Amino acid sequence: MDIEKILQEIQEEIKPFMSQGKVADYIPALAKVDPDQFAMSVTLFDGTTHSIGCSDTKFSIQSISKVFTFTKSLNIYSKELYKRVGKEPSGNPFNSLVQLEYERGIPRNPFINAGAIVITDTLLSHYKNVNDTFEKVMDFIKAVAGDRAITHDQEVCDSEYAHGYRNLALANLMKSFGNLDNDVEDVVKTYFKHCSVTMSTKELSRAMLFLANHGTDPISNHRFITDNQAKRVNAMMLTCGHYDASGEFAFHVGLPGKSGVGGGIVAVVPKQMSIAVFSPRLNSWGNSLAGTQALELFSQKSGLSVF
Ligand code: GLN
Repeated sequence: MDIEKILQEIQEEIKPFMSQGKVADYIPALAKVDPDQFAMSVTLFDGTTHSIGCSDTKFSIQSISKVFTFTKSLNIYSKELYKRVGKEPSGNPFNSLVQLEYERGIPRNPFINAGAIVITDTLLSHYKNVNDTFEKVMDFIKAVAGDRAITHDQEVCDSEYAHGYRNLALANLMKSFGNLDNDVEDVVKTYFKHCSVTMSTKELSRAMLFLANHGTDPISNHRFITDNQAKRVNAMMLTCGHYDASGEFAFHVGLPGKSGVGGGIVAVVPKQMSIAVFSPRLNSWGNSLAGTQALELFSQKSGLSVF
């Protein structure tokens, strides 16, 4: 398979989609990004990365951070975790409050906002305070990415906090049902901090490689999680990684994937490679429009999917 050729074709064929969709503006700092950007990186098990577009540009990973926090929490709490968060697709937008009320404060899965907030709460209980928890999450991201220089964007974090009414509402609702152990403000602050981590597609595709290889980084041979845990994280990405468009994504792309409102999407080809795309304009579900299209083209042209 000629990955370089496939990527070159995608770069051309993606052009009509680049002007469609809308940049996330409910976090004002995110509305300032250049909407016309596009990047895609593919990392193979020998560490080779093929890229097109602005693959060194760092962007806000937002909900892609939920893959790292869920992985970390699953590694600490194992199946105890599922007493507090489910493993079913929500069929609702990522920030919906409705289901949470009638399901008595237990979020459907770790990738909708409510679920990710519970996951952050579990990490906060384990590491005790906001700074240490965030530092441990960063240590994990740096370790899986093999890059100590990864940081976060405090402006994005502050901007989300200043407009974080809905996430605070979700957290307060869960607190009222007894499904948050820590202080609401601390949990939400930590959550916004890990959402504001910035990475490029090159860094993100490299960081996902351990999930394509049953929990072991194929480059360093370091095992981060067990085979079983890696299977769970991938299954969760396939069924819940794109919120109420997870079925759409599985149907058109057929790979475990996770999106973020910063315009990034990561995807995993089990036993072969990991992929990251970036394009800030989003579709109506809050997933990168050109990014989703690029992944669909990649799976069509390469014949790679889990099905
Ligand atoms: N920080 C964002 C939020 O909580 C993450 C959402 C997303 O990327 N889908 O709204």
